Amino acid sequence: MATISFWGGVGSVTGSKYLIESNGSKVLVDCGMFQGLKELRERNWQEPPFNPAELDAVLITHAHIDHTGYLPRLVAQGFRGPVYCSRGTADLVRILLPDAARLQEEEAEYRNRHGLSKHKPALPLYTEDDAREAIKLIHRVDNTGEPVQVARGIRAGFRIAGHILGSSLVLVDIEVAGRDKKGRRVLFSGDLGHYDQPIIPDPVAPPQCDYLLVESTYGDRLHDPERPEDALERIIKDAIERGGPVLIPAFAIGRTQEIVYLIRELEDAKRIPILPVRVDSPMAAAATQAYINRKEEHDEEYTTILRDRRHPLKTHSMITASSREESKRLNQESGVRILISASGMMTGGRVLHHALRILPDERATIVFVGYQAAGTTGRRILDGQREVKVLGQFVPVRCHIERIGGFSAHADWKEVIRWLEGLPAPPRKTFLTHGEPEAANAMAARIRERFGWETNVPNYGDRFELA
Ligand SMILES: [Zn+2]
Repeated sequence: MATISFWGGVGSVTGSKYLIESNGSKVLVDCGMFQGLKELRERNWQEPPFNPAELDAVLITHAHIDHTGYLPRLVAQGFRGPVYCSRGTADLVRILLPDAARLQEEEAEYRNRHGLSKHKPALPLYTEDDAREAIKLIHRVDNTGEPVQVARGIRAGFRIAGHILGSSLVLVDIEVAGRDKKGRRVLFSGDLGHYDQPIIPDPVAPPQCDYLLVESTYGDRLHDPERPEDALERIIKDAIERGGPVLIPAFAIGRTQEIVYLIRELEDAKRIPILPVRVDSPMAAAATQAYINRKEEHDEEYTTILRDRRHPLKTHSMITASSREESKRLNQESGVRILISASGMMTGGRVLHHALRILPDERATIVFVGYQAAGTTGRRILDGQREVKVLGQFVPVRCHIERIGGFSAHADWKEVIRWLEGLPAPPRKTFLTHGEPEAANAMAARIRERFGWETNVPNYGDRFELA
């Protein structure tokens, strides 16, 4: 009997982990870290609900930490099998996992030094060495749909999902599964891209499948109709008038490149003056290089720009801080400037050090450019809390708060429907994953209304037969 069970990325947008079992083979799709609410984060520290040493393989839809951040922990707990992902994802994971480990080690050290932890001593979830071990297990696969054998009786094909560089739809093909023994195909949307976003192509049409897992981050919302470049122009001009800095918490991978690209466009079009732009992230520069190198994943417009101009991913007055010393130097600057720093939901990273200065400053602006999960510091600020805890200290929020909705790398509900319209035939069952409960339920209702398909919103730990 073939089954699928849900160990993350359900009831939440974080911690994605889906386990397929069939005839003794076990394959995990995505290996994400939980973020946000404490009860979710605690799962990162619990014993995994399956034995990592018994998994034959892990398949990764894309590099974001909520899909890959648990890998080093899985390896530390005995997983030795191959990790399959696209070439673009592999490039980014190599940058991202050691950085995630370093940030956790730094944060644990900071908490210990300042006596801010309830745990004595505070420990990182994993170390840089664990991350390096995980990277050794990576097998690169083309993002063209060509199936590869990943375990006995199980093959997988990766196709462009248009979310970030390398992001993939993963089609898992299980031999002799189903009550008729004819085999079953399970399609994982991973995070589905927003159509027409800069740099990378749109998601490809979904291939035929028996079971479908589709993300629902924006299942109850549509993206802001204000174009992100127009919003950025407005916010930057307001900041110039106030003479204060602009802090943009952003994922170093994907979102940072997109913002830099748009600021460069605004500067070139003389819609904004040339301002100091500070990208404070040890991995943003490396990620930017990966974006430039993977030419097979560029959309037409970006290919044309690259041909005409040399650095679309660099503004006219930009500094990227890699070392901690460079980062500290940025803290001494004053006046109007744009700071871009990870993490995007303010769950950790250097953005927190900037937040200590920016949040209490009445002239400053903080701009959210991505989804802010429940329980994150980003969400608290966006929800209007007047005081938030940053690095163990209570900080008043007096700065201007802006949100650019149109920036998402995720499809909104209409775009998910548009993508689903490309399916050659209805699946037997469609699971709504990667969404908070209201969003997942809303997306399920839209799908039933539009297509009449059988839908399910799984809970943590649910297991279903792939009948
Ligand atoms: Zn993602």
